[in-house]
Amino acid sequence: MDERRQLLHDLDDRIESRVQAIRAERDWWPCQRGCDHCCRHLAHPPELSAVEWERVDAAVALLSTTEQMVVKQRIEHLLEQIADGTLSSAVVCPFLNESEGACRIYDSRPIACRTYGFFVARSHDQYCKQIEGEVSDRPDDLIIWGNADAISNDIKRISGEPIPFDVHYG
Ligand code: SF4
Repeated sequence: MDERRQLLHDLDDRIESRVQAIRAERDWWPCQRGCDHCCRHLAHPPELSAVEWERVDAAVALLSTTEQMVVKQRIEHLLEQIADGTLSSAVVCPFLNESEGACRIYDSRPIACRTYGFFVARSHDQYCKQIEGEVSDRPDDLIIWGNADAISNDIKRISGEPIPFDVHYG
């Protein structure tokens, strides 16, 4: 494993330990495999660091031929929408299996997918509204959130600035 992949793997582990700490004794927490709300409401198609794109591409290459075809078609459809300026404000991730409501590349999903329901940025500009609602119903529950800004800086240190979807696939 090259150094960037190892650092990415270490970052996955750190994120997972924060996720488990938050989830412990909170069986109401909605963010888990099977919840696909954010996967259906992306602000834009995925923008990932180079090492994350490499991991995603490797995972897609391991899908069945049929699934690869579906993903390819959805990628092409999004590229057309980007070129035409017709992207929806709620983009469905091309890696989502919509009928199952599950990520096709879950074990290789991007860092943003791992952190979204558990880490917040100072600005709170990326935050799950479902979780926000659940949390506001439990004002006495002291949640120690992960720091999304720190994770964002870590991934940039590991693999540089995010590469836009159309640049990666263009
Ligand atoms: S990569 Fe997977 S977990 Fe992330 S938004 Fe897409 S479908 Fe959801």
